[in-house]
Amino acid sequence: MKKLTAILIFASALFTAMPAFAQENELRRVEIIFKDETALNAYVLFFDTSGIKVKSDNDVVIFYPWTTIKNDSELKRTLGLLSPDILLSEKEITQNLQFVEQAGISISLKDGRIYNGREMYELSDMDNIVIKSKGKLIKLSRHDIVKREDVLVPLKEIDSEDEIYTLIVKDRIIATADDHYETARMCNRLGLDRKAEFHDWMYELIRRGELPSSAPYKKLLALYNKTLDEQLKDVLYMTGKDILNFNYKDSIDRLEIFTRAHSAQMPLDEIENLLKELKILNQMNMEAQIVNYWYLTGESLVRSKAFDRNAGFNTARKYIELEITNEILNSISQKFSTGKETAKSIWIKRETTVFLTASYGEGTWAKEAPQIKDAEKWWQNSSNAVRFQFLKAYYAETAMQAINVFHKDCPACGNTGKLFGPNGNEFVVCGTCGGLGTNRVVSYR
Ligand SMILES: [Zn+2]
Repeated sequence: MKKLTAILIFASALFTAMPAFAQENELRRVEIIFKDETALNAYVLFFDTSGIKVKSDNDVVIFYPWTTIKNDSELKRTLGLLSPDILLSEKEITQNLQFVEQAGISISLKDGRIYNGREMYELSDMDNIVIKSKGKLIKLSRHDIVKREDVLVPLKEIDSEDEIYTLIVKDRIIATADDHYETARMCNRLGLDRKAEFHDWMYELIRRGELPSSAPYKKLLALYNKTLDEQLKDVLYMTGKDILNFNYKDSIDRLEIFTRAHSAQMPLDEIENLLKELKILNQMNMEAQIVNYWYLTGESLVRSKAFDRNAGFNTARKYIELEITNEILNSISQKFSTGKETAKSIWIKRETTVFLTASYGEGTWAKEAPQIKDAEKWWQNSSNAVRFQFLKAYYAETAMQAINVFHKDCPACGNTGKLFGPNGNEFVVCGTCGGLGTNRVVSYR
């Protein structure tokens, strides 16, 4: 037991950069429910966006990543990591839409007007009710009110678009393509369509930046992120939309016209470089366009299947094995008015200098040893990001041309396959890799 404590102290020293421990009597006690359904009551020592560090009743200190915890969003809310009014975890977004409504009121006036919103009690008085509706404070005379009902009101009827958007992005790090995709979906659900459009645009550009023929997308994004000129930002946004829709000629015209009119204050070298890349895209022959389109369509289809909460694990796998290639071919033959056989032969003899990689991540066991857990249940309980990671690697290995399969150490247990259990005095199977200790990675083209 002594030895174990020493190991734990060493382990906890690895989690540096944290504040000094608070006094025991000030510590908050919480119940953690792990993804394997075991539970632990413990004192919270520290938490951040990556996980929570707790002290159990027998004085064992352990850090748990949020990804291992089942009631993570509830705990995050308790600890103030999420706004108490609104649940924004991915799981709730996809499985429970209740959060977009809040307790509010509906007021009908004598003249027939109806207001929905939230009553601002501190501003209301004997004569007037003040409600917040679509971000504005509205004062209504009690004398004019014929009916007042307590109802659930969609959040967008209460707060302004900017207020809701601030809630969404407040605790989120939005950096990768997937981050932008998730944020766009949240914006959609809350009726923030313009914000959603922007995040979809960012998502598409970053994503295409990862695929072959990526230079124009990367250059455009870099310039967009760098420039402070609002006009240039607008033009780049429109240019980006053009190239995402394969309208390369329009994108070039737009950028050239704008640059000629505003040349004085523009970063001309960078725009020139971007134009050069766009011209290459524009001159790309049909065969290269088909290959490019194949990569993009394939990944989009994998994503929508992974994000479809109605599709089970086996359904999703069967889709990759039996249907996806045909669906890509259908899409290509429609887009380029070419036969499926032609498209197929162009794809098979494609030149590639870029090799892509995809990791099964925490779904590695579901590929290599699906008998060790209930894969369907795991699939249902996994986040969209985890599902997409698995399915993309499965697609790379099954429907694309796999070049190599190799293994990397599991980031949670470091190739040991086990972690300290909730009580700290026993080992449990690492939930991230299912005890395998590694993640399966595929390189493909
Ligand atoms: Zn592991």
